[in-house]
Amino acid sequence: MKIDIITIFPNLFSGFLSESLLARAQKKKLITIKTHDLRKWTTDNHKTVDDRPYGGGAGMLLKIEPIFRAVESLKFKVKSKKTRTILLSAKGKTFTQKDARRLSKCDQLIFICGRYEGVDERVAEYVADEEVSIGNYVLFGGEVASMVVIEAVSRLIPRVVQKEESIKNESFSDKEAKEKEHPQYTRPEVFEPKVKSLKTKARKWKVPKVLLSGNHKKIAAWRNQASLAPKRREEWRRRNTE
Ligand code: SAM
Repeated sequence: MKIDIITIFPNLFSGFLSESLLARAQKKKLITIKTHDLRKWTTDNHKTVDDRPYGGGAGMLLKIEPIFRAVESLKFKVKSKKTRTILLSAKGKTFTQKDARRLSKCDQLIFICGRYEGVDERVAEYVADEEVSIGNYVLFGGEVASMVVIEAVSRLIPRVVQKEESIKNESFSDKEAKEKEHPQYTRPEVFEPKVKSLKTKARKWKVPKVLLSGNHKKIAAWRNQASLAPKRREEWRRRNTE
């Protein structure tokens, strides 16, 4: 998959793209991710990317011309290749795991990161294929939002996550993208903090006995219930921390 990110702050991505699994996926040529400075597609000496909104109002908007030129020059022009152009926007449709699955099947994703008061609405109307929000809150810009979408999509691309099993049985991996993963624990069996916790009076924090039983049937049943019912997990937690 090829991922192109259009932004006025390309440096924001340097750590994100050069660490951990995304770095490995790029090295292995499973994904190619490139950031592009929107100013590259401006035509004036000042490299202007923004202007005041018609009708008045606070702040500036990113202009349509450089964004249009950027998307046109980055888009795969081959019909058989599946490209989606995504505008990050607080008023877009909320991104879910289902969208991550759908987008992971594309050949190319182009992200348009807004800034300031946002982007000329014609980008949503005529340029982007979809307008995506990562949640009901407002960020400074679309850069962090694009990172969220890129991470969620990338880990579904075959071989990016080494153990395929770990992406098959996790939160939202069911078709409806509703279920949550069961709680998980690792060593030690009992943790006894040396300092008093502000959250609980319990001195011994134990792993649920059933997980240590070796009884796979019982473990599976416990996991099943725990993953379906967050309330049950809360109750269990309360009982164990009193
Ligand atoms: N005036 C806009 C509004 O009220 O919806 C908010 C603009 S915001 C300060 C600047 C840019 O950040 C947006 O154009 C968008 O690209 C990005 N952004 C902010 N919140 C976002 C969110 N929840 N999801 C995706 N992108 C977001």
